[in-house]
Amino acid sequence: MHFNLLTLFPEMFPASLGQSISGKALDKGLWSYECVAIRDFAANKHKSVDGAPFGGGAGMVMRPDVIESALLSITKEKQGRKIYMSPRGKLLTQGLVKELSQEPEITILCGRYEGVDQRVLDAHEFEEISIGDYVLSGGEPAALIVMDACIRLLDGVMGNISTPDEESFSNGLLEYPHYTKPAKWNDMTVPEILTSGHHKNIKAWRQERSEEITKKRRPDIWKEYLGEIQNSHEGN
Ligand code: SAM
Repeated sequence: MHFNLLTLFPEMFPASLGQSISGKALDKGLWSYECVAIRDFAANKHKSVDGAPFGGGAGMVMRPDVIESALLSITKEKQGRKIYMSPRGKLLTQGLVKELSQEPEITILCGRYEGVDQRVLDAHEFEEISIGDYVLSGGEPAALIVMDACIRLLDGVMGNISTPDEESFSNGLLEYPHYTKPAKWNDMTVPEILTSGHHKNIKAWRQERSEEITKKRRPDIWKEYLGEIQNSHEGN
């Protein structure tokens, strides 16, 4: 998988993605990235990439002409799916991450200031994706999150370190609690069933904990899960 990053701050990549599992995968060539420094495409002698908003208001807006030139420096075939990181975008979910991780190429536009001139988003059909209901100062940390979530799903990246299908959100539920050595710690023991060696009962216990946690912490996800179960029963 290849990521093109349109950014004013290329030095912000690969950041944490150069470490640990994603860093090893980068070294192995399981994913790659290229930064396009938007400022390099500013045409005027001041190298300005932004302008005051028409209609007034605070802050500055990134110029459409400069962003377009930066985008067109990547050949059409290599642009792939075009994403603009934006708090007003579609919420990033594990389902969307799975979908994105199937793409061979993705171009991510990282906004700054008040955001980007709408015309360039419309003209080049950028999809807007948000990482959550809060506002960051720039799209780069959001892009790193999208990348991290996609990279760990790529073939050969996780090996058998983790089982993505059992993780939170993958089966419609939050994950059950984990325990490891020591079996007794600060007067606290681990649930007995986990040391029983009885795989079927352990699986059932984990499923129950997952359901309990999801119901309590995320009633929105729980409601969806119940709906899916009902649909699958009706489909049978
Ligand atoms: N004026 C914008 C608004 O109110 O929606 C916020 C602009 S924000 C200060 C600057 C840039 O950070 C955005 O253009 C976007 O690229 C990025 N950004 C901020 N919050 C984000 C979020 N929750 N998800 C994705 N990107 C975000």
